[in-house]
Amino acid sequence: MDNFKPEEISRIIGKYSGNIPGPLLFVTGGVHGNEPSGVIALQKVFAELEKTKPNIQGTIIGVAANTEALKNGQRYIHADLNRTWTVENVEAQKSDTCEKKEMFEIIKALEQHPESDYTKRYFLDCHTTSAATVPFISVQEVNDNDAWAHKFPTYIIRGFSDIVFGCIDHYLSRTGLTGCVFEAGQHTDPRSVENHEGVIWLALKEACGLDLTQISCYPECVDKFAKENAPDQKTFEILYRHGLEDDDEFKMEPGFENFQKIEKGELLAIQNGKEVRSEWDAHIFMPLYQSQGNDGFFVVEQVKI
Ligand SMILES: [Zn+2]
Repeated sequence: MDNFKPEEISRIIGKYSGNIPGPLLFVTGGVHGNEPSGVIALQKVFAELEKTKPNIQGTIIGVAANTEALKNGQRYIHADLNRTWTVENVEAQKSDTCEKKEMFEIIKALEQHPESDYTKRYFLDCHTTSAATVPFISVQEVNDNDAWAHKFPTYIIRGFSDIVFGCIDHYLSRTGLTGCVFEAGQHTDPRSVENHEGVIWLALKEACGLDLTQISCYPECVDKFAKENAPDQKTFEILYRHGLEDDDEFKMEPGFENFQKIEKGELLAIQNGKEVRSEWDAHIFMPLYQSQGNDGFFVVEQVKI
């Protein structure tokens, strides 16, 4: 993708401060090493900030998360870095896997920007998905995360982050930061970088008061995400998770796209020779088309906000 040079990745992708005190915006990319899109977008954003030097309140810092896995183009080295951030792991202070080492280094980077130095601290965690999808935000419903998530013009999923454990957004939320996860699209889709870039600029506007007209790539760098690639904002909640056991034989019916509408009675998958049919008029989320995984699919419904 672009001129991405994985061997040159360093922990801190960039840091930019205005001359007025204000919030911290802590942006992470590459928590999964096979998802360089967020890192590439951060590199673009910092290059533009250094070029045009717009005025902002506070500081944005861009962090490459799983640096070793990014260098190797792998999802992770020893363990999924987005399952590593449990209270136990953080408290144990043991760097016995590559990912725990990365985790403690990221924590150290954040601790250099304590709450007392800022009016507020925000985070944005940038990901991509294996399957094609419209961009969406996943928000854990704690602190004022949900209100923050609704500042962005795309689909928003509530409650997904609450049923997985050890994610970086959990750690950041319980440390008192306000933020969400942004899934920009498929891993290698060039629109994923556009979407990450757009959402980072919008986060800078919302958190640090950036006047977007000050930057030379505006409006394209925002509009590709906000006007072309992203769907209109809708909010969804998880109704159901179709969990799988390791020895289950599971085959999703072909052709389901993320967020596609499903109807009661519709055939969704075949599991151990039996039909799995929808019990809902709702939407399907994250249908499993890879060989590995313990989530067959989720069912989500649109909610009013
Ligand atoms: Zn990811």
